[in-house]
Amino acid sequence: MSVHVMSPAKRRLITTAARDGWTCRYCGHALVHADTGEGLEEIHYQGRSLGFIAADGYLFAYTDHVVPRSRGGTDHPDNLVLSCLWCNSRKGARLLSELPDQWWAA
Ligand SMILES: [Zn+2]
Repeated sequence: MSVHVMSPAKRRLITTAARDGWTCRYCGHALVHADTGEGLEEIHYQGRSLGFIAADGYLFAYTDHVVPRSRGGTDHPDNLVLSCLWCNSRKGARLLSELPDQWWAA
């Protein structure tokens, strides 16, 4: 019997992605559908979980904190959205109110 261990970050990603239809909530880019998260590899940087990449290298999905953790945001589902690499890296640690209109398309 194999034991499948899912990290809390991975569980958050799968839950968030399922709710958001595997689509970036900011720009609408469709991310590869992977029901179980099987084959998703977690990327770490300096001890922090950055996101996930699929074995085929295509999917790069993040659970973005709408209010960044560094600004007091929590891991509550209400504060989490599925985000693509592009939007996640462009948004950074800013609040939505600090971003220009349509920042994801600029
Ligand atoms: Zn996006």
